[in-house]
Amino acid sequence: AEAEARYSAANPKSKARATSAAQVMPGGNTRTVLHYTPFPLAWGHGKANRLTDLDGHEYLDFLGEYTAGLYGHSDPVIQGAIGKALGDGIVLGGPNRYEAQLAEAICKRIPSIELVRFCNSGTEANLFAIQTARIMTGRDKIMVFEFAYHGGVFYFGSHGNPLNLPLNWVKGRYNETEYTKDLIAQHGAELAAVLVEPMQGSAGCLPADPAFLKMLREECTRRGIVLIFDEVMTSRLSPGGCQALVGVKPDMTTLGKYLGGGLSFGAFGGRRDLMERYDPYRPDSIGHAGTFNNNVCSMAGGVAGLTQVFTPEEATRLNALGDQMRDRLNAVARRHAAPLQVTGVGSLMNLHFVKGPVRTPAEAHPSDPALENRMGELLKLFHLDMIAAGIYLARRGFVALSLPMREPDVARFEAALDEFLATRG
Ligand code: PLP
Repeated sequence: AEAEARYSAANPKSKARATSAAQVMPGGNTRTVLHYTPFPLAWGHGKANRLTDLDGHEYLDFLGEYTAGLYGHSDPVIQGAIGKALGDGIVLGGPNRYEAQLAEAICKRIPSIELVRFCNSGTEANLFAIQTARIMTGRDKIMVFEFAYHGGVFYFGSHGNPLNLPLNWVKGRYNETEYTKDLIAQHGAELAAVLVEPMQGSAGCLPADPAFLKMLREECTRRGIVLIFDEVMTSRLSPGGCQALVGVKPDMTTLGKYLGGGLSFGAFGGRRDLMERYDPYRPDSIGHAGTFNNNVCSMAGGVAGLTQVFTPEEATRLNALGDQMRDRLNAVARRHAAPLQVTGVGSLMNLHFVKGPVRTPAEAHPSDPALENRMGELLKLFHLDMIAAGIYLARRGFVALSLPMREPDVARFEAALDEFLATRG
């Protein structure tokens, strides 16, 4: 209560915005993940890895727009590319000079993507990848994993989502290799696809056990099931995506977030024999339209970002910084003997206020409501204390580093965590 009162007093303009927005939007909100109590900070502007709120406070941005903010704010190279595209006209009603450039850059970085098509969001990318698998296999069922998030209409967490697309889902358990293998054997002949994140992001940055992904690869190959990696969040984890890091090659990959240079973006691609069915020269081609699939600004920003800013060298540097940060935060937790585990891969991580190791979603999300409630309270206190220290991250403890981040920024986060654990015991 004391932390909430302090927060409310410090942020009158964000509070006023929340109140007036609630007149015209439910809870003043149009993106559920951006809501937190008592009301979220509202942003005025951002520069590099700094954000300034409506009340004029500056924060280090460790949320990184849930990974879409990889480039940081107002990157001059990307701004220049988008500015040029804007000046040349943005609703041209035909192919433009940028879309094939972005496709080429993506196929070069992620070789399992032999052909690619664009859409407007990660949600759509998964929708079209599932469509491809169902048409190409003539089968109907899709395996997903408990606690997976694949988009607004594809969420499989503890409270479910009333709006999930009414597809024929089978739910496996992430990193539970034997259980999932048996489930695949049971449904194998009816499964069109297995849709999986090579690190579960929203579930709490849970890295895949390599044996788990290898099992999925083997079972899919043996049974003619399309293995789809949802790399909407994870494609940043090495120069060639998370798949290059884990050494498992999917049949299809879905992409999104930062790859549109910070603008709306989605893509799905993979094996040539699957994707070439979209070739409009074919009499049996699958239709895939969408007014903004090749929107000039996302394509131009995406090309500049991937070829000039998020180079393979920068990908390696940023993910090494993330590995270092996770180690340092875990060391702070151990020093305080705190019930805190920091999980993740490279530049993505999640703080979990639990005692034991966190390997599966079940370990990250206690089913006991009293424990879940206590964890929620701790996360809230931590979040409000970090904000008071000038550090912005997600209420659920999620952190995504952006390219402007350097060691001194990590040290500030580490010191703030140290202070939190010292004062809140
Ligand atoms: N897949 C994963 C793994 C995601 O994390 C997200 C977004 O957070 C999506 C899909 C959906 O992407 P979008 O919000 O662009 O629809």
